[in-house]
Amino acid sequence: MVRLHPPEVCYLDGRMKYDVAIIGGGPAGSIAAALLARAGRRAVVLERDKFPRFHIGESLLPFSMQAFTRLGLHEKFARAGFMEKFGGEMYGACSEQGVKFYFEDGFRSQTDRSYQVTRAEFDKVLLDHAAESGAEVREETSVENVAFPDGEVLLRITPKNGVSEGISAQYVIDASGRNSIVGSQFKLKRNYDHLQKISLFAHYDGVERAEGRDGTLTRMVRAIDRWFWVIPLTATRTSIGVVLDHPVFKKAGLSPEEFLEQAIEEQPLLMRRMSVAERVSPVRTAADFSYRNTRLTGERWLLAGDAAGFIDPVFSSGVFLAVLAGEQCADVLHEVLDHPGHARRLFARYARNINKAMDVYLRFVNAWYSKEFIEVFLHPQDFLQIPPAVNAVLGGNAGTSFAIKWRMSVFYMLVWLQRYLPLCPRRSLVPQKEEVSPTPEPACAIS
Ligand SMILES: Cc1cc2nc3c(=O)[nH]c(=O)nc-3n(C[C@H](O)[C@H](O)[C@H](O)COP(=O)(O)OP(=O)(O)OC[C@H]3O[C@@H](n4cnc5c(N)ncnc54)[C@H](O)[C@@H]3O)c2cc1C
Repeated sequence: MVRLHPPEVCYLDGRMKYDVAIIGGGPAGSIAAALLARAGRRAVVLERDKFPRFHIGESLLPFSMQAFTRLGLHEKFARAGFMEKFGGEMYGACSEQGVKFYFEDGFRSQTDRSYQVTRAEFDKVLLDHAAESGAEVREETSVENVAFPDGEVLLRITPKNGVSEGISAQYVIDASGRNSIVGSQFKLKRNYDHLQKISLFAHYDGVERAEGRDGTLTRMVRAIDRWFWVIPLTATRTSIGVVLDHPVFKKAGLSPEEFLEQAIEEQPLLMRRMSVAERVSPVRTAADFSYRNTRLTGERWLLAGDAAGFIDPVFSSGVFLAVLAGEQCADVLHEVLDHPGHARRLFARYARNINKAMDVYLRFVNAWYSKEFIEVFLHPQDFLQIPPAVNAVLGGNAGTSFAIKWRMSVFYMLVWLQRYLPLCPRRSLVPQKEEVSPTPEPACAIS
């Protein structure tokens, strides 16, 4: 039954007692809180910032749509004016010919769309929805540390301009993003040393785009030592960013503004669309360091979203993984609160599911950073339904079905073989301005 008002908070030894305390009000935390509150659980969200606040991560995957439907969010998204997204397109920096993929063509696709969102607004819609569903939301409240005395969780919190206090709950979900409060406290974080990147990005008005469905696609451009995203956010606004190895940026000795401007200017594929574009936000930078926690659960805690692990954003998997984890945490804890004896089994299953989904994207990302990946991707062959399987994973199908798994294995084998045999045309990934024709050739489609 859906409960629309916060349930009574009970007090134990003068401290508030909740069923579940959730650290962080990003997508993972808000989704978990809304579901728990709707199931009648006493959930509190402790969020350090005041929403709306800026956040990066603007392109969503269709496999989150079911969770949004379950929570009744689509109407709110439509009211907020979020743009529907129907797929993506990839280009090598050396050629005008790219590959488009539409979600409807994904292997056993269930939905043809997702959203492109301004995260400040999206996260606010989700957090407000959690409050309207009955969760207590405490913004501008930082969690300082978490302790686990017998049979409960104690959180030390500091409200902005207030004094520290302790609150208690039966379980805690750490959805604190890349802060990963619990993971850091237990020293569980392990970096992926080969994925220590930096991203520089900004919003622009006036970037040219295609009409209709093609104007909603996320565009990725792969250059030799970096890649770019172009994400349409509204009818006029576009997010553009570049991701590269941190030392390359440092060595350039440029400010973020200078670096991003220069990086864009070197890419005819971007410049062609930006002749009248104007930057309308500061250039921001984000450390883009991939990592995973060695454990995702303990006796009274679960890690969700970026707090569990962060995988390079090239395939826009971050919010999808956060929503997936938020939803699964809520379902697991709802059952465990009634049947504490099931905790060990259900927590282990949760950790397995989330680790598996992260593994899928980690493998995909590792392949992406080889030149052969883009050579194979840009030359799709209608062979054993490999392109639709790749398309499905790009849509958030974490590929746990055998039908997708073996097709993905064939895809990776082709990428590996391409290193030794030119199965697909070789690409320099270096822009060659003289080769660019004034009238762009149509991109191929992957389906
Ligand atoms: C450059 C870049 C580009 C990206 N692009 C995409 C993309 O296109 N699509 C996509 O899906 N993902 C993208 N991502 C990933 C995406 O941003 C994250 O995966 C996603 O935001 C994770 O959601 P979350 O709820 O786990 O954490 P977050 O959204 O980070 O939310 C965590 C919340 O916890 C709060 N918090 C932190 N510490 C505390 C504390 N001590 N006490 C209380 N509150 C606290 C924070 O204020 C924050 O609001 C990108 C990431 C980067 C770095």
